[in-house]
Amino acid sequence: MLMVLSAALIALLVPAPVQSLVPPQPITQPITQSDMGAPARMSKPPTRGRIVVRIPDAAPSIALPPVEGPRDPRRPLVVIDAGHGGHDPGAHNPALGIREKDLTLAIARAIREELLKTGRIRVALTRDDDRFLVLQERYGLARKLGASLFISIHADAAEHPGARGATVYTLSDVASDREAARLAARENRADILNGVDLSDKSNAVSSILIDLTQRETMESSTKFAELLHREAVSHFRFRNPHHRFASLIVLKSPDTPSVLFEAGYVSNDEDARWMATKDGRLQLAKGVAAAISMHFARASVGR
Ligand code: ZN
Repeated sequence: MLMVLSAALIALLVPAPVQSLVPPQPITQPITQSDMGAPARMSKPPTRGRIVVRIPDAAPSIALPPVEGPRDPRRPLVVIDAGHGGHDPGAHNPALGIREKDLTLAIARAIREELLKTGRIRVALTRDDDRFLVLQERYGLARKLGASLFISIHADAAEHPGARGATVYTLSDVASDREAARLAARENRADILNGVDLSDKSNAVSSILIDLTQRETMESSTKFAELLHREAVSHFRFRNPHHRFASLIVLKSPDTPSVLFEAGYVSNDEDARWMATKDGRLQLAKGVAAAISMHFARASVGR
């Protein structure tokens, strides 16, 4: 009896492998804070002799957004995330009265419209109104829906007002340049506005998630970033370099290829005016939709 008990105790006390603590989420349940907080609890590896129990936090569930497009669930699903929203306006251009959160929503809607025209791709928006979502909720929604691709739309302020054009960001622990590092620092702060300081958690998440799945996801994200430039460069201008890397929390889904698309700079008057026009957004949407169609066409033939 004692032997049996000891064996059972040893089984309990030996730390479980990291992967088993972050199970894939079923797509039918709403997101709760406990889902999003789970990886953070592993910032310190469980010590021998301590039993770690996940306790769900009391937090309101977030309803899943509607999925539009073909009803066939085998069709690929893109989740488009309009950056910022609600009490977080993002960057703004005071002279023109243009705010990033309004541009991102209008651009996200334009991309959705363009994708729905194909009749082959399903689309969901993380927000379709002026509401605030924390960063984990944004990619969490994509994971819950089983998205094949996640695109977070932004139109930030640049350090130099003359800076113009689009940039695609993918995830890396090491920022590709100072500007990318500044963007990550600024964007990752969005959660603090909601009273949730996740700066610690992001480090934990980044160290845990660098496993094989994450590497494959990052590779796929990088391929998409290059494809986006190739397919969209005839529709709108890009900055140089057009692809940068940064440790952005919103891109940290371990299993959904994800990019952050800076459509342009709200701090640049020409960019801001252009993005605020219907035609500007149509060009953005056409370029992004062409890249998404190509991405899925490649995936379907296994390339
Ligand atoms: Zn932004």
